[in-house]
Amino acid sequence: MDFSYTPEQEAFRMQVRRWLAENLPPELRIDDPVDDWVPASREIFERRRAWQAKMYAAGWVGIGWPKEYGGRGAGLLEQVIFNEEYGRARAPILPGYSGISMCGPTIAQWGSDEQRRRFLKRILSGEDIWCQGYSEPAAGSDLAAVQTRAEDKGDYFVLNGQKVWTSAAQYADWMYLLARTEPGAPRHLGISYLLLDMRSKGVEVRPLVTAAGHAHFNQVFFEDVEVPKENLVGPANQGWKVAMTTLSYERGASGGGYDSQIHGLVDLAHRHQIDGRPAWEHDWVRQRIAHLAIESRAAKYTRLRSLTRQLKGQPPGPEGSMLKLFGTELGVRIAFFAAEMLGPYAQLAQPMPALADAPRWQNRVINSRQYTIAGGTSEIQRNIIGERTLKLPR
Ligand SMILES: Cc1cc2nc3c(=O)[nH]c(=O)nc-3n(C[C@H](O)[C@H](O)[C@H](O)COP(=O)(O)OP(=O)(O)OC[C@H]3O[C@@H](n4cnc5c(N)ncnc54)[C@H](O)[C@@H]3O)c2cc1C
Repeated sequence: MDFSYTPEQEAFRMQVRRWLAENLPPELRIDDPVDDWVPASREIFERRRAWQAKMYAAGWVGIGWPKEYGGRGAGLLEQVIFNEEYGRARAPILPGYSGISMCGPTIAQWGSDEQRRRFLKRILSGEDIWCQGYSEPAAGSDLAAVQTRAEDKGDYFVLNGQKVWTSAAQYADWMYLLARTEPGAPRHLGISYLLLDMRSKGVEVRPLVTAAGHAHFNQVFFEDVEVPKENLVGPANQGWKVAMTTLSYERGASGGGYDSQIHGLVDLAHRHQIDGRPAWEHDWVRQRIAHLAIESRAAKYTRLRSLTRQLKGQPPGPEGSMLKLFGTELGVRIAFFAAEMLGPYAQLAQPMPALADAPRWQNRVINSRQYTIAGGTSEIQRNIIGERTLKLPR
C-alpha cells in the first residue's frame, strides 16, 4: 500500500474542502451523521434535498458516476478524498443516498437506455428520492422468501403485498423493490426487480418508530398497485441477480470511518468527571479508548487494503463482509463505552449544564445497534466469511 497522495490529489482535496467551507450551511452540519441518517422531519428533509440540489449543480454528487449519467467520472481515490472531506465538514448524509449509492448504479448496469435517461440524473439532483423495498415480515436475512406478488397483466403488473423496515419511505418519490412474478418457480427464480412510483394508487406508507423515538423506517402496503412494464429492470424473473448487484453496492458502502467517533470519546473523557476528576485522568479510561482507537485504525487499513485491490483491478475480496461486521460492531463498542463512562448521564435525552451534548450520547447508545442488523446482520456476515472465505462447511 502506498499512503501518499499526488500533488493533483492534494489539490483536489483542498478544492473540496474550500467548496464545503464556503457552501455548507452551519444549520446542516451534524456531529454523528449516521445517527441522523433519515431526517427527523419533512422540514429537515427539504433543507437537505435543497443541499443535494446545490451540490449537484456544482458537480459534487455521484462524483464516481460517468459524465454521461451526470457524474464527474472521478477515480476511486478522488471519491475516497471527497468522502473524507465530506465527513470532516460534518455534512449530512444526502437524502438521495439510496438512489445514489445503490439503485442508480444498478440501473446504470442493468437498466434500458430509456430507464437510464429517465432516472439517473434525477437521482443525482435529488428531484427523485428513492427507498429500498426488499425486506418483508417473513423475508429479511432470507430475502429469497419474498412474498409480494406482481401479476403480469400485459402492459403492466399488479402489485399486492407488504414491505417492512423501509428506510425513509415517508419521503421517497420512488421505490426499487423485489416481487414474485412467477409463483411456482424455484425460490431464487421467479423474482423481478421493479421501480415503483410511490404516488401510485394503492400504496400506503405507515411509519415505524425506533427506540430512539424516530420514524427511521416504515411499513409499506400495496393493494392492486399498477406498475407499468417499462419499470421492470433486467429480465423478468431474473430480479435476484439484479438485487445482488444492489446489495454489493450496499455492503461496499458500509463500515464507514470511526476516527471521528474516537475523537468524540477523547473529547468527552476530558469534559466528563468521574470521582471528582476528568475521566481522561483515569488509567482504565485511557486504556479502553486506546484499545478502541487501535480497532478503528485496523478497520481503516482493512478498507485501504480493499481499495488497493480495486485500484489494481483485482476482484473484490472478503473485506466487504469483514468491514460490515467489524465496523458496525466497533460502533456498538464505542457507544457502549461512552455509556459506561457517563453512567446515568447516558440516559439523558435533554442537554444538562454538566453535559450539554447528553442527547447525542443517548442517541448513539440506542442507535448503534441498528447498523449490525441493517444491510445484512452480523450473523449473516459471519456465515458469508465462514462459508465463502474460510470454506467452512455450511
Ligand atoms: C435501521 C434499519 C434500516 C433498514 N432499512 C431497510 C430498507 O431501507 N429496506 C429494506 O428492504 N430493509 C431494510 N432493513 C431491514 C434489514 O435488511 C433486515 O432487518 C435484515 O436483513 C434482517 O432481517 P430481519 O429483520 O427479517 O431478521 P431475520 O432475518 O428474521 O433474523 C432474525 C435473527 O436471526 C438471525 N439469523 C437469520 N438467519 C440466520 C442464519 N442463516 N444464520 C444465523 N443467524 C441467522 C439474524 O442474524 C437475526 O439475529 C433495515 C433494517 C434496519 C435495522
